[in-house]
Amino acid sequence: MRKRIVAGNWKMNTTLAEGMELTKSVIEKSITVPKTIELVLIPPFTSINEITKLTKGTAVKVGAQNCAEWVKGAYTGEVSATMISSIGATYVVIGHSERREFFNEDNKMLYRKIKQALENRLIPIYCCGEKLNERESNKYFEVVEKQVSESLFELTKEQMMQVVIAYEPVWAIGTGKNATSQQAQDMHAFIRTTIAKKFGKEVADSISILYGGSCKPSNAEEIFARPDVDGGLIGGASLVADDFIAIACSF
Ligand code: PEP
Repeated sequence: MRKRIVAGNWKMNTTLAEGMELTKSVIEKSITVPKTIELVLIPPFTSINEITKLTKGTAVKVGAQNCAEWVKGAYTGEVSATMISSIGATYVVIGHSERREFFNEDNKMLYRKIKQALENRLIPIYCCGEKLNERESNKYFEVVEKQVSESLFELTKEQMMQVVIAYEPVWAIGTGKNATSQQAQDMHAFIRTTIAKKFGKEVADSISILYGGSCKPSNAEEIFARPDVDGGLIGGASLVADDFIAIACSF
């Protein structure tokens, strides 16, 4: 069975003290979450070290929101995958739409980041998804196929099997307007078929594809019930422990 994952992307929110409180609360409440669901907290860089210490000995995993495309060196302000791995994080989000939009990250750069992540035993959560105009002009499959092929198709089969994909339609992120469960299922199935054509059915069937975009306790159950939806990448709702846990209990 594919791994089911509910990951909370805190974005540029939470001081260290706030992040520690939120983590403690999530750990406490996580006893209600089925053991088959992997919970991942993705705080800002400044809190990762302390939060990995807090989660040690629990089933809760920790990730980073980004990593550099380079190994090390004169790249002021960047954080390498090696550094992230060295403080106990096990996941890293790559290519979130906010990074594509505000920091001009493109598919080829994201391929290099994914390679860095994999070389440092981090699980990349590779984000893809179309903008509103691309949805409205029926270009969404084309756009996502390009994102997936340009960032993932140079990986080996073994590397591809380590990658988690998050389908996040940009028009649904932080807008309160989620994709319908049918829209999510259709795109997830399309992504899986795209992966299968390149890497084979076995690889495609083994990778987790998460949905992200205004996922909340009131809509998670319906979305997660779809066969190709293996969990969620949660933004706003992950900042409230009760909501995050309720979403994780929606499987
Ligand atoms: C996200 O930023 O990855 C996200 C899904 O945000 P939200 O849940 O707030 O729409």
